[in-house]
Amino acid sequence: MINQTFEELRMTGKLPSPSGVGMQILRLTQGDDYSTEEIGQAISADSALTGRLLKLANSAESGSLEPITTVAEATVRLGIRTVRNVALGLSLVPSNGSNSCAAFDYERYWSLSLARAVAGQHLSSVMMRGVPAEMYILGLLSGVGALALASAHPEHYAEILMDPNLLGPEEVCRAESSRFEINHRDVAGCMLLDWGLPEEFARAVHDYEACEFRSSQKAIHTLTELLRAADVIARLCVANVDTPLQEWDQLSRDLAQLEIVSGFGSEHFRRTCNNAAEEWREWGEILGIQTTRQMDFELVEELAEKAREKARADEGAVPRIVRLDNSGLGQTASGLSQALNESSLRILTVDDDPVALKVLENHLVKAGHSVTTTTNGDEALRHALKECPQLVVADWKMPGLDGIELCRALRKISSGQKIYFLLLTGTNDDESVINAFNAGIDDYITKPFNPRILIARIHAGRRIITLQKELEREKRKQQKQMMDLQVVTRKLRSAALADPLTELPNRRYAMKRLAQAWESSSRTSRPVSVVMMDIDHFKSVNDTFGHDAGDAVLKGAASILRSSCREDEDVCRIGGEEFVVICANTTAAQAKMAADRLRRDVENAPIFWQGHEHSVTMSFGVASRTPETQDYEGLLKAADEAVYFAKSSGRNRVEVAEINQDEFKKSA
Ligand code: GH3
Ligand code: MG
Ligand code: MG
Repeated sequence: MINQTFEELRMTGKLPSPSGVGMQILRLTQGDDYSTEEIGQAISADSALTGRLLKLANSAESGSLEPITTVAEATVRLGIRTVRNVALGLSLVPSNGSNSCAAFDYERYWSLSLARAVAGQHLSSVMMRGVPAEMYILGLLSGVGALALASAHPEHYAEILMDPNLLGPEEVCRAESSRFEINHRDVAGCMLLDWGLPEEFARAVHDYEACEFRSSQKAIHTLTELLRAADVIARLCVANVDTPLQEWDQLSRDLAQLEIVSGFGSEHFRRTCNNAAEEWREWGEILGIQTTRQMDFELVEELAEKAREKARADEGAVPRIVRLDNSGLGQTASGLSQALNESSLRILTVDDDPVALKVLENHLVKAGHSVTTTTNGDEALRHALKECPQLVVADWKMPGLDGIELCRALRKISSGQKIYFLLLTGTNDDESVINAFNAGIDDYITKPFNPRILIARIHAGRRIITLQKELEREKRKQQKQMMDLQVVTRKLRSAALADPLTELPNRRYAMKRLAQAWESSSRTSRPVSVVMMDIDHFKSVNDTFGHDAGDAVLKGAASILRSSCREDEDVCRIGGEEFVVICANTTAAQAKMAADRLRRDVENAPIFWQGHEHSVTMSFGVASRTPETQDYEGLLKAADEAVYFAKSSGRNRVEVAEINQDEFKKSA
């Protein structure tokens, strides 16, 4: 049934599909007998795709290896299967359809998909699960089902997207199925299979949204779980002021759960998320996909807390008792004692003795607090992770997870570290008390307790909680100031390295970059070359049309050079009408080919200024490091001399430096 519906969808011809190169790769790989060369050739025909593939291959690789610079190397390093899957997936990105569905937020869609891709790749590499480059593709394609429905049924799908009653993916799926007889998960799975991607990929994009981690789970096992984990981080990346409050609540719970499942510990977990977000921004620039500024974990907590407060207010909840039955589903008994106010705390109590639990609950509610009761440690832990109480009162001795173990488990994750933990203990011996404090408790009371002492201790806890809140607020303020400062510094730094007229990197940048490339070449014995170029008869443009025309021509020439350069070729403006391209890992012959390409492109592209067409030509000098080249300044000088020679030999030509002539003669 689903297959038939999908077939009908496909026949509409409106589904997103791979680009020309993607189709070619698909055709090549229908059987099992495709060769590395064939795939390599197909990919290399598309320079943008090649650049992205290489960037991905390098970012997915461990830092100690040499950078991958050709598709063939990527194939050897990553394996043909991965390169094929990656190239196919990347070839899908620009074909993002006609943006025909008015209610579909295409920008957010690509931003989120890219974040899933990068987070998936990152997690895969740090958790050593799956293949990082493949996880990237899986993330990128993870939402393709919704994109396809929006393309195939733009109007009807808009109605579903705008329906305020549909909360969460499950409800959306149901609405889709009843409307189109297929939902976005099925569509995504079918599309991936249709493109010949592995079955486990199709399963992961189909299942990840509904995938739940078990509370006892300590590691990620399947691709589906990995994708689900990537999705949580991706939602954190894209969350912004427009994100509805209840999503913040869900996000904060998902993050807390993922933190446990990852087994990383809170600091490592945050660092992983931040690294993924940083890469997401870099990729966003490469693919022209929108990303946002630095994310803020504290903000997630703050907004999640607001969402919970709002939910409580909506329920009309006054201090209340929530009892968790064994299935973990809470029942609310509200309407007790005073109204919820500032001094009221959200308290979770846990005791296996029902009578003691009842007594405790009554005292706390009477003092105006909002209380949830649980009868064992596991249940308390589950609840604490979900609801983030401010204070826990736990009995020590309980079957299963006891009070101390509960405290230790909470202290391992960041949301649990903030909870004020009060232990009820039957013993008062020094050794036990010291052990309890070592496990992370904040305070203890010996049983049987005097209710007034209990309340006094709870109030002492409240003082700490309030102080902690203020500290956090202050910390957030400082972090924000730091971040603003970092932005300003980054802007200043990039301004210092950019040429204001052409917006190309300037001479300073070029020298830094060249020094780096030189050093890397010394370390690895790989080649390094530079291509230097100078506009021909530029002075006459100024003299004939004026300085403004000259500026416009400079800008135009810079823009032609920029688009003619490949991703790994850095073009910089190093003087009035002089430019340089630094070519790391490039031989003289390869650099000469690059220069020929640039020369042709400059000659053939007209530059318009105030209705005038100015075509310019440039003279090029190519130099490559030889064993005799002393330093990078020597290399630049050789290229400069070659430019001079190109000028004196008639301009609009490429000359190779004297130092590389032997090599050229040999290969000729
Ligand atoms: P050749 O083919 O030998 O390179 O001749 P040319 O006229 O291009 O070279 P020359 O070095 O004689 O002149 C370069 C001119 O570029 C001189 C200078 O006024 C002009 N120039 C340098 N920087 C700028 C700029 O930022 N804007 C404009 N409009 N002109 C500039
Ligand atoms: Mg010139
Ligand atoms: Mg000049």
